[in-house]
Amino acid sequence: MNPREELRELIAHAKEHLRYYGELGLAHIGETSLPAAPQPKVEDHAAAASALTASALTEPKRPEPPAPTIITPPQFAPKPTITMTTKKEDPAVVSLFGEPALFGEAAPSLTETLLSDETLEDIRRDLGDCRRCKLASTRTNIVFGEGSPKAELMFVGEGPGADEDATGRPFVGRAGQLLTKMIEAIDLKREDVYIANVVKSRPPGNRAPEADEVKACIPFLFRQIAAIRPKLIVALGNPAMQALLDTKIGITKMRGQLLDYPRVPRIKVLPTFHPAYLLRSPDKKREAWEDLKKVRAFLRGEL
Ligand code: URA
Repeated sequence: MNPREELRELIAHAKEHLRYYGELGLAHIGETSLPAAPQPKVEDHAAAASALTASALTEPKRPEPPAPTIITPPQFAPKPTITMTTKKEDPAVVSLFGEPALFGEAAPSLTETLLSDETLEDIRRDLGDCRRCKLASTRTNIVFGEGSPKAELMFVGEGPGADEDATGRPFVGRAGQLLTKMIEAIDLKREDVYIANVVKSRPPGNRAPEADEVKACIPFLFRQIAAIRPKLIVALGNPAMQALLDTKIGITKMRGQLLDYPRVPRIKVLPTFHPAYLLRSPDKKREAWEDLKKVRAFLRGEL
C-alpha cells in the first residue's frame, strides 16, 4: 500500500472510531488525547503523527454490558454532538524551528485536517467572492490555483502578479513561463502538478503580501494541501516557505532542504528560489537546478 492509500485508510479508521465514541455517548472530544507538543524538531514529526494515529486508533474501553432493560423512548439520551476544539496542544501550531507558529491560530488543527474529506471544489466554493482582506478591493480575479487534484508535487508561490490577476490563473506571466520550464526539466508536465499561492488576490504593484493578508488567506492554502495531500511541496521564495514552515528564517539558508510539512504527516517541503528571483539573478539558477534534481529524485523514491 502506498503512503497516500495508507493515510486514507488511517483516516477512515479514525472516522469509524469517532462514530463509535459518539454511539458511546461521548459529547466532547477535546484534543487532550493528542500527544503533548514538546519542542518539535524535524525528525519528531513522524513520531508525533504515529502517536496521534495510535491514540486515535486505540480501541476504547468497552463498557460493561448493561443489565437487560426495556428502554422506552423518553430514556434515550439526546444525540451527542462531537466537537473538536482547542488547538493549544496541536503539534501543528508550533514551528519546526521552535518559534511560535506564525499562522497556527489561522490554520485548521491537525485532527481537523486528518479527518477532513473536503474537495478543492468545496474549498473554492467556501472562498467565494472573497472579501476577507483589503486585497479584494484592488484585484480583478481571484487566483485559486490549478492543476491535478491528485498531484504528488505541488508548487506554492507568493501571490498573483498582473498577468495572473488578469487571467485568474497562477504563474502565467514571465516567472510562470520559467516555472513551467522548471517543471518540464524534471520530466513532468504542468498539468501533473498543482500550483497555488499564499494569497489568492494580487497585492497592488506586486508588493509582498502583508501579514494580515497572509493570515486571512493562508487557511485556504492549508486546506488545499490537505485536500490534495501531495508527497512534496516546493515552496517558491520567502513568503511561501515562511508561511508553510511557520518560520522567519530566510530562503537562502533553507533552500534545498527536504523538511517535514508541519501540518500533515508524510508531506515534505522543499524550499527553493522563486522563479521571479531567478529571472533577476540568473546566476542562482544553478542552485535552483540542484534543488529540482532533489525534487525529481525524491519523487522517484531515490531519497
Ligand atoms: N508570482 C507568484 O508568486 N505567483 C504567481 O502566481 C505569479 C507570480
